[in-house]
Amino acid sequence: MKDIALLEAKCADCGRLFGHPSLGDFAYGEVVLCTADGKHYATVDAFNEFAVQVHALVRSGGTSSIWPALAALADPVAGQQFTTSLHCPDCGSNNLEYWGGQKVGVACVPEASFTAVAGLSPSLLAQHMALAISQAREA
Ligand SMILES: [Zn+2]
Repeated sequence: MKDIALLEAKCADCGRLFGHPSLGDFAYGEVVLCTADGKHYATVDAFNEFAVQVHALVRSGGTSSIWPALAALADPVAGQQFTTSLHCPDCGSNNLEYWGGQKVGVACVPEASFTAVAGLSPSLLAQHMALAISQAREA
């Protein structure tokens, strides 16, 4: 768990104002993931053991960013898959008018867990990752 500043965002679809946890521009190697329904957040660190393993697989697949892969592989919360984009907690839209606005508070954000995939062999993990990423693209 980590205390992270909440910054104001506004949904372009329903007009809802909400606070989203933001690590700011200077957080290197760490991002905040958001569930597809906009109700849950988790941080993920590119240097933990699992992320390093994913990074090696992603690189061999020719993609540069590991964040979509890590979001797709993170254990879902309340049945919701994590994504790398912010979603409105009211309507689930990721069409935002603005984000990263004024500070509106602080939230305690847990770290994403990868228990469902952490025990897989590298080849199974690669398969699982390819599938998870393609499903995330369709959603
Ligand atoms: Zn909305």
